[in-house]
Amino acid sequence: MIIVLKPRISKKEERAVLDEIRKLGYTPHVMRGVARTVIGAIGDELTHANLETLAAQFPQAVESVMPIQKRYKLVSREAHPSASTIRVREHVIGGRKLHVMAGPCSVEGEKQLLTVAEAVKAAGATVLRGGAFKPRTSPYEFQGLGEKGLKLLDKARRMTGLAVITELLSEQHVELVAEYTDIIQIGARNAQNFQLLIAAAKTGKPILLKRGLSMKIEEWLLAGEYVLANENPNLMFCERGIRTFETYTRNTLDLSTVPIIKHESHCPIVIDPSQGVGRADLVTTMCKGAVAMGADALLIEVHPNPAEAWSDGAQQVTLDGFAQLMRALQPFITAAGRE
Ligand code: PEP
Ligand code: MN
Repeated sequence: MIIVLKPRISKKEERAVLDEIRKLGYTPHVMRGVARTVIGAIGDELTHANLETLAAQFPQAVESVMPIQKRYKLVSREAHPSASTIRVREHVIGGRKLHVMAGPCSVEGEKQLLTVAEAVKAAGATVLRGGAFKPRTSPYEFQGLGEKGLKLLDKARRMTGLAVITELLSEQHVELVAEYTDIIQIGARNAQNFQLLIAAAKTGKPILLKRGLSMKIEEWLLAGEYVLANENPNLMFCERGIRTFETYTRNTLDLSTVPIIKHESHCPIVIDPSQGVGRADLVTTMCKGAVAMGADALLIEVHPNPAEAWSDGAQQVTLDGFAQLMRALQPFITAAGRE
């Protein structure tokens, strides 16, 4: 249920409403908007008391009580009509500025990472990506540098001032990864690993949740719900292509998720064209489309020498290619009303 509070009520009145919601067996999630504060009350409405009486019980504080019709509650636009913004160091994702997160698929070594970090920073990226724990299809492929990779990301962050995003693969590494990263990436293969999502949410760090390889949009939104339901409002969704019958591209990048996520949810939407198409030659064009459609950020793989990359060589753009991409994107960023 959603409980809309009246404007300018006192803290004491608000607390009384929250206490009553808890007493009735629900967990309240307070969402403060510019004009109004809204409480999402989460609990099983079949087994708990009806909350509709709250308006009569607290007439000075409660304006209305409405059911949330969707299965996802806290991520829904119904619960939070204005778009959410997420703070990542000095940056705001989901606001006017389009953010570009760029870097290698895998952290391979100091020289490789620092070279990419400096180049993507110079071209206008604000966040450095790089996998230290890699989810590889084959156990015989490079699995990532692990903690050493995290330390290199930290070094690159200190040298360039870029924020860092890296993937969390296992609950076992939650604290370690959270110590080094500004954004925790949950990969496509773990998008419905609910225990991992809960553990990641509990760090309080911003979470980027990729769409699973064969995940319906409703399932993806419900996976995101696990983050918000665990007291972490800092969630962004990331479309990275789904598995279809098509083989010209590695995956089928579903750009319809941009308007759909914007319609269904208040959380930012990020597009990853690199995993999405798996071909460096298509990355710029897919980025233009994503930006024109209103994506809040892009996640792009960049490598100094893609032919020699230890993972995902075919889809990584070169340093020059990335600088060109950023220039080519500018008119689309402006046309979308962003900076
Ligand atoms: C990646 O970003 O390199 C990656 C492994 O992504 P995904 O989980 O989307 O496959
Ligand atoms: Mn990759």
